Parts: sequence; structure tokens; C-alpha cells
Amino acid sequence: MQPVYFYNTLTRQKEEFKPLKPGRVGFYTCGPTVYDYPHIGNFRAYLFEDILRRTLEYNGYQVKQVMNITDVGHLTSDADEGEDKLEKGSKREGRTVWEIIEFYTKVFKENLHELNIEDPTIWCKATDYIQEQIDFAKKLESKGLTYVISDGLYFDTSKYPGYATLAKLNISGQQEGARVETNAEKRNPADFALWKFSPKDQQRQMEWDSPWGKGFPGWHLECSAMSFKELGEEFDIHASGIDHIPVHHTNERAQNWGLTDKESVKYWIHSEFLLVDGGKMGKSLGNLITLQQIKDKGFSPLAFRYLALQVHYRSKLNFTWEALEAAQRGYDNLVNEIKSFGLAGKIIPEFETQFKQVVSDDLNTPKALAILQEVLKANYPSSDKRATIITFDKIFGLNLNQITEAVELSREQEELLAQRQQAKVVKDFKKADELRSVLAEQGIKVVDLPDNQYKLEKSQ
Ligand SMILES: [Zn+2]
Repeated sequence: MQPVYFYNTLTRQKEEFKPLKPGRVGFYTCGPTVYDYPHIGNFRAYLFEDILRRTLEYNGYQVKQVMNITDVGHLTSDADEGEDKLEKGSKREGRTVWEIIEFYTKVFKENLHELNIEDPTIWCKATDYIQEQIDFAKKLESKGLTYVISDGLYFDTSKYPGYATLAKLNISGQQEGARVETNAEKRNPADFALWKFSPKDQQRQMEWDSPWGKGFPGWHLECSAMSFKELGEEFDIHASGIDHIPVHHTNERAQNWGLTDKESVKYWIHSEFLLVDGGKMGKSLGNLITLQQIKDKGFSPLAFRYLALQVHYRSKLNFTWEALEAAQRGYDNLVNEIKSFGLAGKIIPEFETQFKQVVSDDLNTPKALAILQEVLKANYPSSDKRATIITFDKIFGLNLNQITEAVELSREQEELLAQRQQAKVVKDFKKADELRSVLAEQGIKVVDLPDNQYKLEKSQ
């Protein structure tokens, strides 16, 4: 069996993956807070997790992936201060918090499917696990790891000697210093809420009774409670974007330790940020990009997937519209080249071995794409190249398995076709139609498919 390696944030090393149970993987991924449209920075992390799961499956593992939907308790500051993001979304749109949850969960799942990100084995919503979260906090309380102040029940991080290990935090100031609001009642700056009380002066739409008072669970508690419930108190992999390392995952790890006295997660794996035009992306910077915007500009969601695969998940991905345009062109060419290949070929073993090796080496998708290019250039029957690339696509997830009636194109006709695709991308539909007519006169019918794809047929 091909060994699989991952870079473990906890040890800061690339390690060989050894599952807790032979052949099986328990895999937890932090999902979205469903109060607004997700952006492409979020999707970069979900794409990385999708590649991670596909790679394990390609290597024969049976993966149980759990992804949560945060529908309560995530405050506007990750440090348990400010407004609940869900209540904020509800006010912004004049809809109930439950309508907000339903709407943005639907948007999120649709976007995942458009990006060919496979559903996790289990979806779990924080509000469906309130009792589990209360029970978890009660156990932490019974072990003397918590205290109550005026706005909630808090975890005392000074009780956990390993608290700073995951993020290599400088506890004495650095972490709290970055926060806008601090709570003077907390014993230590890094202490975090397990349960927050409802404000006395206003009615929350979501609140539950608890042994400490009416309120709602802290954001970090849901992931500990749900991962334990669905995967057990020890599981293999916890993944998401690196933005979660210093607060959310550090606090999850503290809770897990508090309950079990051990390291619950074997491999913490994190993807790097997505930048826009070389800088940070953010709502306040006015440069948040959603998948809808990408589609509105005529690009295919899979062109974004192709772009993301070109950069290793632990490197920053710099998004520019030019880069997306190049990815769309590259993707279209790739699909069309494969469409022209013969069917019923055999997988070329040497390429499959190389491919498996590079993806299993900490998910090296840029190298895997380079191998795909080598296959295209190699001197093999096109049907064998096709079979080989289709097997790679189990990981790439680029819908490369599109079949069409073989149509021979001259070099000039290929150029016309490329110009037509480009015209479609820039929404010059008049030019696109003209070029289609020119090709039709030459006996080539272009049939448009969803997602900026097309197929060619011989016209009568
Ligand atoms: Zn989480």
C-alpha cells in the first residue's frame, strides 16, 4: 500500500498517516457559519478537505467525514464578544434566524456541489446537539476546569499545560492583544466561553435552559461535542483553514483534553489563506468574492477548482481575475483535448504510480497536474491516456469524463473555437454567435452545455 503523508500542525512535521483503526479514517471538518454568502476563501479550505478525503479514498481507506453547520453561538469576534452572527444576519435581512439558517445552508451546499465537493458522510447542525454540548460542559465543570462570571460559563485555560502547543501561542499577551474587546472578569485573557447567558435587556431568538442559566453554547464547544459524538473521543484527522488555529482549534483541543486527559486528534491539518490581488480579502476591504460573482462573470465553478489545484494547499493562493481567466482557458482546453481521445483504453501503470505517489505526499496537486500534462504529451494511444486521466479525476474532481462524438478540427477551426469560448467568457454573445455560425458553415455544430462547457457535433 502506498504510504500517505500529511503535514501535522501539532508537530510541525510531515508524518506518515497511520489510522487508529486499520483501513478506516475518522475525519472532522469545521463547516460554515450560515449567516451570509460564503466566499472563495472559505471554499479554498473546503476544496482542500475534499482533496484530502478523495486522496484517502483513492488509497483504499473508508473515510467517515463529519462537517458541522454553525447555526448558533459564533460571535462577531472569535473571542466570545460581540453579537451572534446568526442574530445579526436575521436583523440585516428582516427574516427569522431560522429562515437565515435554512437559506444560507442551502446556498452553501449548492456551491459545494457546483465545485464538485462531495458531501461529508454526516452533516451536523450545532442546534441539533445542544444537550450534548451541555453535557460536555457539565463534565468539564465537574473536573474543576470552569468558572462562572456575569456573562457565562468559561473554560480556565491556565489549567491546561498544553494550551499553547497547537498554535505556538505567546499566552502572555499576543493573542488577546489582537482582540478589540476584552472581558475584565475573565481569569486569563485566553479563557473562552462554554455557555453564554442571554442578555438581560433583549430577547434572543435562540436560547436554551442550562444548569448555569438561559443562554446558548459557545462556538468552540459544538465542534468538540459533535466530533466526539460522531467519531468518538479519539479520531484521526481534524482539518480546516489556518485561521482556525490560534483560537477555535486551540480551544477545541483544550476542551477535548479537559474531557479525556489525552490528545484526541492525531493529525491537525490546515490550509493556507486565499489572497485577492496579493492582499487580504475581507468584507471591510470590500473585496469579498463569492462563487455567484464568479458565475456571473461567465466563469465555470470548476475553473476555480482547477485554479485552486494549481497551488499547494499549504501555500497562499493569490486570486486574480486574470488567473481565473487563464485557469478557465486551461480547463476548457483540457476538457476538449480529452473529449477528442478514444474510448476503452487501459490505465498506463507508470503514470498511475507517479500520480498516486505525489498526491499521497501531502496532497501535492500542482505536481499531480504536471503529471497529467505529461500524460497528454506522452506517446501512448489516446484511449489509454484518457483512461489514465479519468482515474486521476477521482481526486481532481474536474468532470474530465465528458464524452462526445469525435469531430476532427483543423488548426483554424480550433482557433475559432477558442475565440468563441473567450467571447463567452467576456459575455460578448454577439461575437460568440457569429463564430458559431462560421463553424456551422464548415460542418461543425457547437452545442453549449452548463458551466461554460460545450460539445461538438457534425452538423448536417
Ligand atoms: Zn470547528
